[in-house]
Amino acid sequence: MTVQGKTAVITGSNSGIGLGVARELAKAGAHVVLNSFTDRDEDHALAEEIGKEFGVTARYIKADMSKGDECRALIEKAGTCDILVNNAGIQHVAGIDEFPAAKWDAIIAINLSSAFHTTAAALPMMRAAGWGRVINIASAHGLTASPYKSAYVAAKHGVVGLTKVTALETAEEPITCNAICPGYVLTPLVEAQIPDTMEKYGMDRETVIREVLLDRQPSKQFATVEELGGTCVFLASSAANQITGTTISVDGGWTAL
Ligand code: NAD
Repeated sequence: MTVQGKTAVITGSNSGIGLGVARELAKAGAHVVLNSFTDRDEDHALAEEIGKEFGVTARYIKADMSKGDECRALIEKAGTCDILVNNAGIQHVAGIDEFPAAKWDAIIAINLSSAFHTTAAALPMMRAAGWGRVINIASAHGLTASPYKSAYVAAKHGVVGLTKVTALETAEEPITCNAICPGYVLTPLVEAQIPDTMEKYGMDRETVIREVLLDRQPSKQFATVEELGGTCVFLASSAANQITGTTISVDGGWTAL
């Protein structure tokens, strides 16, 4: 079985990895639902472009992944959810003693709790359809830690735990749940960390990229959104029927160190 004709809901997909995943799933023939918390013409235009380019149905549905009821409403509005990609995420970098409590709450809500709510809403649809895939975009920070990223690392480790529980609860059904753990991917989320890091270490942009961001990525290359989309297409294929409850690192060797 392939993703052809399936409906994929990708949270946080008007930018970066989510948009790349939506494009690769659409290229493979899936209908896609894009999402973010904004409701701009350009958000809807992104979906329209994907629909035209790949000949699939593509919609954009606004829902704020920091709010549990909106997470569930996203899945209900989608109507069908064969493939759920929990991707929405934010970052904040600060020492624990200075970490704003509101940022901690937002990161836990968007990066972790949203996946609980969408999965809870999507599983009954997958069971009714007799097939389903839950793909959680975790991080190398779901498996390892870095200083100054307490909320992010805690949320991503939580996502890996939720992935295992979802897989065990669906183990005897034709539903799988896995987490993809990317290393650094040059998206707006990473781009936003560069100026602060330049200032913190007194480095120029290129040095920050090589020696700070890609310090732990032995390949010394960013992963691409297309590669992550391709990993989702693989996890949604029948070749991955028995892959469940695990993590797939797309990190240029980071977690091998
Ligand atoms: P990004 O900032 O480009 O994209 C994040 C997406 O989430 C955007 O579409 C944004 O609109 C959406 N979003 C943010 N808050 C939201 C909210 N409240 N409700 C709905 N949508 C919301 O970042 P990205 O790098 O593409 O990150 C996507 C995912 O990949 C995140 O979960 C991130 O933690 C993870 N990740 C990224 C990297 C990387 O190097 N870029 C590495 C590992 C994991």
